[in-house]
Amino acid sequence: MGPILDCDANATYAPDQQIQGVILSCLEALGNPSSMHRAGQRSRAAIEEARATVRKVVGAGEHDTVVFTSGATEANNMVVQALAKQGGSLLASQIEHPCVLGPLAQCERKGGKVVLVAPDRDGVVSVDVVRAAITSDTSLVSIMLANNEVGTINPITEIVAAVKAVAPQAIIHADAAQALGKIPCSMADLGVDALTVSAHKVGGLSGVGALILRRGIELPALILGGPQEGKLRGGTENVLGIRVFGEVLSLLVREGDARRERMARVRDLFESSILGELSEVYIHGFDRARLPNTSSVYIAGVRADDLVVAMDLEGILISSGAACSSGKPEPSHVLLAMGYDEDHVRATIRVSFRADSDESDVKRLVASLVKAVSRMRAVSQAA
Ligand code: PLP
Repeated sequence: MGPILDCDANATYAPDQQIQGVILSCLEALGNPSSMHRAGQRSRAAIEEARATVRKVVGAGEHDTVVFTSGATEANNMVVQALAKQGGSLLASQIEHPCVLGPLAQCERKGGKVVLVAPDRDGVVSVDVVRAAITSDTSLVSIMLANNEVGTINPITEIVAAVKAVAPQAIIHADAAQALGKIPCSMADLGVDALTVSAHKVGGLSGVGALILRRGIELPALILGGPQEGKLRGGTENVLGIRVFGEVLSLLVREGDARRERMARVRDLFESSILGELSEVYIHGFDRARLPNTSSVYIAGVRADDLVVAMDLEGILISSGAACSSGKPEPSHVLLAMGYDEDHVRATIRVSFRADSDESDVKRLVASLVKAVSRMRAVSQAA
């Protein structure tokens, strides 16, 4: 097999060489951070350094709380489940990740009030639909900063202003798992009270994330146990994962805009090539503000799942819009919420580039896609 062209960087991917070096050096010192001996204290210091880096990267203040979790799933659960217990009405969008929608559905089953607003046809949650849904008893508004399937960016700053005008008491949370490292994610600029991030979406290890809470926002722990993480998350910290997360974020800071610009160039080259080479192709949210690395592409006359397999055989990892649970692929709830029918959804692939993807990756991807699509279309026409 040729070189792995991992074009699905929105999922976990092998850390690049620089990060592999970081992992090896971190392995040398993995004491329990709750221990008083020097190995423990070294780990404690490393965790606090990573915490400071997270604060810096997300534009949080010195006194804002950073809780390290097992990932964005846990961080989102922590916010939604806490607010569900407090009562009031919970507002989110239909295109949130299942780790927001799941606890909301549970809340509703238990008699809680949940309002889910629809995105527009491009996958953007407009300030108008949020404004129309806020009531004076809204206690939580949770809208993702960028969508994981389409890459569209939501107008969070405007949404915050609209919420504050009607429900100043509401906690405003943004899931920034996909946005981190790809667009600026400053809590200060966005005006949110709580932000979720995940390490493996930026090249760190899976199983680590963080919930950042503005000073004064107090939520109960979701995972009960020891007094770790300021009593907000029981259990010995994932020292390796947290250290690697901190190092990856420091690299992001050093790379600055160059990383985003590089990803956007690669993504734009992919989109112009695929639009030029194939007929009946549609890119969702094309003209809207989007993440620089993500393309959600409808290709008429194909099944996305078949294309994913065909690309995998070429060493190229892409994904379909379908989330696969227990072997039963369900059509993407995001594209359905955007108003597309099941046939359209099942013919949509997602390509998301890594920070180190380059032009040669795009050329190989496009050549492979064109070949596979032409073959599939010819077969379906002959049938
Ligand atoms: N939120 C969004 C927007 C995501 O894309 C994902 C990952 O797919 C998650 C949350 C869950 O992240 P984690 O794997 O860190 O639990």
